Amino acid sequence: MGKTMKALMYDKPGRENSSIRQIPYPECGDDEVIIKVMSASICKGVEHDHDNGTGTDLAKYPVVPGHEFAGYVYEVGKNVTEFQPGDRVTADNTEYCGDCYYCRREESNYCPTFGSLGHNINGGFAEFVRLKKEKVFHIPDSLSFNAAALSEPVACCLHAVDRSNLKYGDTVVVFGAGSMGLILAQLYKASNASKVYMIAGASSKLELAEKMGIETIAMDRNDYSAHEKALLEKEPLGVNLIVDATGSPKVCEHSMKLLKKGGMLLQYAVVHSKEKMTLDPNLMFNNELTFSTSFCQSHNFGRAVDVLASKVVDGDALVTGEFPLDNFYDGLDENVKDRSSIKVIIHPNKEE
Ligand SMILES: [Zn+2]
Ligand SMILES: [Zn+2]
Repeated sequence: MGKTMKALMYDKPGRENSSIRQIPYPECGDDEVIIKVMSASICKGVEHDHDNGTGTDLAKYPVVPGHEFAGYVYEVGKNVTEFQPGDRVTADNTEYCGDCYYCRREESNYCPTFGSLGHNINGGFAEFVRLKKEKVFHIPDSLSFNAAALSEPVACCLHAVDRSNLKYGDTVVVFGAGSMGLILAQLYKASNASKVYMIAGASSKLELAEKMGIETIAMDRNDYSAHEKALLEKEPLGVNLIVDATGSPKVCEHSMKLLKKGGMLLQYAVVHSKEKMTLDPNLMFNNELTFSTSFCQSHNFGRAVDVLASKVVDGDALVTGEFPLDNFYDGLDENVKDRSSIKVIIHPNKEE
């Protein structure tokens, strides 16, 4: 074996089929960039699916997971002039053909060959990761690697904001105080919305939202009447937009009645169960309600970096744990099991 690097590798889904080990260092093509990964963040749902044996829909094994990362440019191909070794960067994890019906409409997230680092291409839980140069983005010195690693979730949340057709002054509810809910609420707060509420179970995460200036309402998972009453006291007609960042079909189903006429429910979170939901066609029709969804981004990375650099989204405030690559599984366990955990960062390299 030639030059090697340390990486987390899943040969098949399931922790027992994975290990942290030496694998070949990626060869840098003429139009490619190798990044020395300083911070790679755990995307809880995705990494948990690799780890619990479910696998992810896009995944092709064996694969190095990790699609949220930032670091230093380490090596550049001979056609690369925009980047030099040592530059601080993050990178867009998505891959698509560029030539199909959707890609030609700049809707590459619908491309039939849509792929992603960390799913079907080796990703960022490794000392080094290889990207096409057009996927790499400079980050300012004022932006930490930890925060820059959150560019991918921020880019996905921006896609949701773009799809929510907000009119100036609209009111918004975000359900769920996980990392996505906290990013979405910060984005909407800086949008043209006049009011943003977060509704979620009482936790340190909901307290963080409150500290970020978002009005919060505590939710009892066994009795929705309390938060419904609390919201309707503040907003008697309901709100214009509800964004679900809980992944609970039950939350979506019950939320339709909290919308103003003409309102929209946007399903953001992945539903990790086979649970179905029922929508009332008469309520939908009579109130001209929209049910919409938001899956993932393409072409949003530049804006995501700007949003983090300008502190519209406070990335560092979302980081609750940091681990070296050797302790990846401890980091994942903390993220999955600890209710106060928001974003956990893995450091494959130490700052020299
Ligand atoms: Zn992610
Ligand atoms: Zn395509």
